[in-house]
Amino acid sequence: MPKSVRTPFMQSLAHCKDLTLYKHIVKDVFANIHSSLNPSYSTEIALLNMVKTLTIQDIESAKALAAALDPSYLIRDSTFWNKNHTPRLLKNITVIALGTSLIDTIWDSNKIKQPEIFKVLQSIKSSLAPTHVCVSAPSKRVMKLAEFHEEELLFGKIKYLWKTWNLESLTIHGAWFCDVKNLPSNIKTIKVFFSDCPGSSKGEKHCSRCIDYLQYIVDCIMDMHVNIGEVRPELRGTRLELFNIPHFLAEWINLNAFSGFKIDSEESTVAIDIHGEEKSIRDGFVRSSDCYINNFKVLSKGEVAPCICCGKKI
Ligand SMILES: [Zn+2]
Ligand SMILES: [Zn+2]
Repeated sequence: MPKSVRTPFMQSLAHCKDLTLYKHIVKDVFANIHSSLNPSYSTEIALLNMVKTLTIQDIESAKALAAALDPSYLIRDSTFWNKNHTPRLLKNITVIALGTSLIDTIWDSNKIKQPEIFKVLQSIKSSLAPTHVCVSAPSKRVMKLAEFHEEELLFGKIKYLWKTWNLESLTIHGAWFCDVKNLPSNIKTIKVFFSDCPGSSKGEKHCSRCIDYLQYIVDCIMDMHVNIGEVRPELRGTRLELFNIPHFLAEWINLNAFSGFKIDSEESTVAIDIHGEEKSIRDGFVRSSDCYINNFKVLSKGEVAPCICCGKKI
């Protein structure tokens, strides 16, 4: 970045406290951070330490960020990643937004064939400690019920980035998680923004894709619970907010629907608990009803506030 562009860029950074990294600018953003003799070194480090919201658009900028935070990240062994270290820069990040291009790369990556990508995620994980994170919608649309489980693969990989973060909120745009073990522990709020369906803008009441998808979501919520319908102890303090449910399907997401779906999928009103005893599914839901009533929120499009990380509403 020429000086005539770089100086106003750094000044705007100081002004807005938001930094968006993408492949065409990232090398310039971090160009001077390792040269302490550079006259603007201290100012640039100070400006980067004023940033509160960091958007990482693609893998190229994630790599440059990892190297800026820890120049030795590629030669670290796995025991190092469990420790946190305080970097010299970006010390005050509280919000991180992950862009679509980065999410696509993580989803398609393979830990054996591309270990570098996972070292990038682990370097960022152990250097930064945000309290709010959002994941942009992948460009790959999951269309068939059988493919929905693909999303487990995505979250099974992003966990290398967020596993040890203590998050106030995790926002997911247009995708769904499946498995509690891939989420950071102790998240206060999980927010899911659903994608628009072309059918819902035409006023269609239902479409088979969305009905399948909602059925899958209810199954996922069921998976978060012990098999008798009670909310798992580790999720009892987590609020789940579902936004922009397409068509008129929002009313499907309620306590009665949950217990009805669970009874349908078990093909019985009772289930066997871990001690081998028969327990009523409906009684399990009733015991957890305060959790469901207080911690689940479903909002249609018009009622949704923008994402606090990236500002999007879908
Ligand atoms: Zn639809
Ligand atoms: Zn967002």
